[in-house]
Amino acid sequence: MSNKNNRDGYSRKEFLKRVSLGMGAAFTWPGMSGFPSLQQDNPYYYQKWEQMDELPGDKKLGIALVGLGGYAMGQLAPALQETKLCKLSGLVTGTPSKEEKYGQQYNIPDSNIYNYETYDQIAENDDIDIIYVVLPNSMHAEYSIRAAEAGKHVICEKPMATSVKDAQAMVDACNKAGVKLSVGYRLHFEPHHQEVMRLGQNEVYGPVQEINGGFGFTMGPEDADAWRLDKELAGGGPLMDVGIYAIQASLYTMGERPVSVVAETPKKTKPKLFDEVEETIHWTLEFPGGVKAKGESSYAEFYNYHDAKAADGSFHIEPAYGYGGIKSRTHKGPMDLPNVNQQKLQMDAFADCVLNNRQSRVPGEMGLRDTKILYAIYEAAETGKRVEFDW
Ligand code: NAD
Repeated sequence: MSNKNNRDGYSRKEFLKRVSLGMGAAFTWPGMSGFPSLQQDNPYYYQKWEQMDELPGDKKLGIALVGLGGYAMGQLAPALQETKLCKLSGLVTGTPSKEEKYGQQYNIPDSNIYNYETYDQIAENDDIDIIYVVLPNSMHAEYSIRAAEAGKHVICEKPMATSVKDAQAMVDACNKAGVKLSVGYRLHFEPHHQEVMRLGQNEVYGPVQEINGGFGFTMGPEDADAWRLDKELAGGGPLMDVGIYAIQASLYTMGERPVSVVAETPKKTKPKLFDEVEETIHWTLEFPGGVKAKGESSYAEFYNYHDAKAADGSFHIEPAYGYGGIKSRTHKGPMDLPNVNQQKLQMDAFADCVLNNRQSRVPGEMGLRDTKILYAIYEAAETGKRVEFDW
């Protein structure tokens, strides 16, 4: 039986009916689905966002960023200056010089600045509603669970966790504390990717028959000390870091979970640099009905694309996964869609869920699902065997 007609208790037809009846906004994803959303917005989230009223400053939800590195301070803090429903209210860092620098830059009072020892005291701080964990991958679980125990809603960066057990513990801790958990999957709010969800899941050009995708970039000796090359901190190599985007794109193009995977890691060209993690990895996910999604990810090669061939057409994004500069086309020509501030939209969408008690479209369950896929890919590469998913 096709999974499409039986996924998580909802048929695609039923879901589309709900959406077309205008019930999409009220629809919450079943707790365990972790399923990529069909397009719920009419037609893209950025347009919905443009229509939204901005809350007064004192009504905006307060977000504390944990780990003030490249992504937190290069992307998230600036995006929080443009959000309508949330704002930057707190900082958590182990580096005293950053407390001063960013505290001043973003006008954060000392009482809202924490280090890793005082972190749990955030429980008593009413200025902070949401904790956004932007630490190296293996630290996500601990800091997300402590955030939940402090009674705060949680956004955790991708990849959600460095083991399935950790990802499950994060979901459980947030459920137990009655707080919401989402993963920093910014592309679910990006119009080119939302269009890919629509084209694929709604079979606009007929059923998708084949997917290819990849995300890779090059690391050199200057990166030798990077946590991304430390297996304990990163949980793995490029697959965990950027391959996850290509996996996600396959799943939201299909709107289904894969049934199995095969994978392989080619011989390393820089074995000293990549002594702990894979340099390059290739995988093939198989979906119900036999559609195959081939993926590749690397720290030694550059690629950044997502391609889908359907029965009556095709669609392609390249470059696909950046913060901007995304370009896409179908067999008919370029998609005429804008580039947007993805982080702004992603964080406001989560704030909206908290304010209106709705499930995030990128919930912890989705991160758990993806963690299972990431580690199944590693298992398949290590054993050389096909790994079946037991959803
Ligand atoms: P980064 O190295 O720039 O920042 C990491 C931060 O964690 C630093 O401030 C560092 O001081 C702190 N830290 C605390 N303990 C540490 C330890 N033991 N070792 C190393 N650093 C430690 O990394 P980043 O690029 O900002 O990535 C942080 C997280 O954000 C990762 O999970 C990454 O996958 C994710 N990320 C997501 C996106 C996205 O587009 N969604 C983009 C970049 C990074």
